[in-house]
Parts: sequence; C-alpha cells; structure tokens
Amino acid sequence: MQQRIGFIGLGIMGQAMAANILKAGYGLTVYNRSSHKAEALAAAGATLAHSPKELTERCEIIILMLTGPEAVDAILQGENGVLASECSGKTVINMSTVPPAYSRQLNQQLESYGITAIDAPVSGSKIPAEQGTLVILAGGDEAAIKQLEPLLLSMGSGVIYCGEAGTGSSMKLAINLLLGTMMAGLAEATHLAEASGLATETFLKVVGAGALACPLFKIKEQMLITDTYPPQFPFRHMAKDMQYVLQEASQNAVSLPVANRLAGLFDPHAPDALLDQDFAAVKTLLK
Ligand code: NAP
Repeated sequence: MQQRIGFIGLGIMGQAMAANILKAGYGLTVYNRSSHKAEALAAAGATLAHSPKELTERCEIIILMLTGPEAVDAILQGENGVLASECSGKTVINMSTVPPAYSRQLNQQLESYGITAIDAPVSGSKIPAEQGTLVILAGGDEAAIKQLEPLLLSMGSGVIYCGEAGTGSSMKLAINLLLGTMMAGLAEATHLAEASGLATETFLKVVGAGALACPLFKIKEQMLITDTYPPQFPFRHMAKDMQYVLQEASQNAVSLPVANRLAGLFDPHAPDALLDQDFAAVKTLLK
C-alpha cells in the first residue's frame, strides 16, 4: 500500500510542493495554521486535517514546510501538535530552513519518540516549487532518505545526500549565503549602472549575454527593471537566514566578512513593508 503523506505549512513554497505530491498520485492530508490556505488543495483532492495531531494520526510520513524553529516547535509540541499523537514508527521530513544546531537537536528529540527524522531543506524558490524542480538537500539516515526518494522527487529534480542529521540544514545556509551575495551584488551593480545614466534593461542584457548569465539573475530581471518586488523568496526569510548564517559562523569560529555586511542589509528589524517583499527589494535600500 502506498504510504499516506501529511503536509504541514502551506505558504508560498508548501502550497506548490503539496500540489505536486498530490499530482504524483500520493494520498495527501494537509494542515495549515491559517486554514484558508488549504482550500485549493482540498478542492484538488487533498484531505483537510484540523490539527497537526489529527494529520499525524492519518499519515505515515509528515512533511513540514514552515518559517523556522518557532513554527516547527509550535506544530510539533502544541496542545494538538504532532507529538501529541501516537507517532512512534512515523517519519518526519523537515523541509523548512532552520539552523543546523536546531536540526540536530530536533533529530534527537524526534528519535526519542521513535520517529525517523530527516532534514531536507530546498534550493529553489516559488517557480521551481511550482514546476517540481527544487533541489532537495537531505541530511539524516542515508537508507531512510533513499527510501523516501520517490516522494522527494515528486517535488524536486534532484535529491543530494549531504550526510548525517543537520547537514541538509548546513548545506542550505551555505547556499543561501551565496544567494544573498549574488542578489545584493546584482542589485548594487544595477544601482551603479542606473546612477551612471545607463538603461536598466541594457545593463541586465549585458549581464545575461556573457559568463555572468545565470537563472537567478534572469528570474529577478523584471523586478529590477520595474522596481516592483512581489514575494517569491520574501526579504523576511533571507533576513532570518542571514542571522542563522552568523550563528553558524560563530559556532564554527569562522570569519565571514561578506555575511556580516549582508546581515546589515537583510535586516530582520526592517519595516514590514520591506520584509514582505521579495528579497530582490534589497535594491531599494541603495537609493
Ligand atoms: P511562508 O509563505 O511565509 O509560509 C510559512 C508557513 O509557516 C505558513 O504555512 C505559516 O502559516 C507557517 N507558520 C509560521 N509560523 C507558524 C506558527 N507559529 N505556527 C504554525 N505555523 C506557522 O514561507 P515560504 O516562503 O513558504 O517558506 C517556508 C520555508 O521554506 C522557510 O523556512 C523558508 O526560509 C524556506 N524557503 C523558502 C523559499 C522561498 O523562495 N519562498 C525557498 C527555499 C526555502 P500561516 O499561513 O498560518 O502563516
């Protein structure tokens, strides 16, 4: 019998990822704190759960795609949380971006309940989530991850095994440091081009014409030209991830001068009007 899948966290990413699991033919139960975000999936054939506990009781595999540790704790440990159910023997795949130290501690906690715990954050944003082309960065028991691969590949184009518990989260932070660096660099170079009297379109055409061309720059092109930033990867999330990067650097006693500057730009205390935009809105800070 095919395993029953539960998906918790139907935000920008979760909605699209859950839809792809459903399309792949899995029996899917969904839960979201704000229940209206589950309506489209219910209309497409998913079963609605009224609490994480109810969802866990219906499913063998529970996927989490939540903001960060606070949200994961609320979903697991709340009054009607995952851990309030009979959960021994189940699998929890945490695809949220969280600090590696938190992932390791979560893995131990879940294993003490008899749960197999995998950290599997993703590289790729809203569009790859919709297209099912995310790159999935998996940490934890390798044999368990191998078994989960068909399910993971319903959401992504590749599963990269990173190592023991927490290494998926470590990989994700290193990737997001590079992502933040590339985005801030493109925004600053565009700002200089504009200040020098060059047309934004012409500058971005030059970027895309040579060795600097990359899918990220292409995806953000229209945002930079129009100076409008509908959220795909919200500024708020990049700001939290830069804080995790700094924590990780401090725990590993490494110096990251670029990350320090980025954490000042991607400031988690910025106004909500900025935090709610796409992280490409870093360009607006330069004006
Ligand atoms: P999002 O749209 O902000 O969704 C966040 C989800 O977490 C929502 O379902 C939200 O529920 C839930 N949540 C937050 N706090 C909660 C709490 N205290 N209790 C219960 N549920 C809570 O975020 P997203 O863009 O989908 O990102 C999800 C995760 O993937 C984040 O860790 C992010 O860093 C990572 N990620 C995002 C992208 C991207 O491009 N967007 C790419 C790669 C990785 P409500 O709907 O009720 O608020």
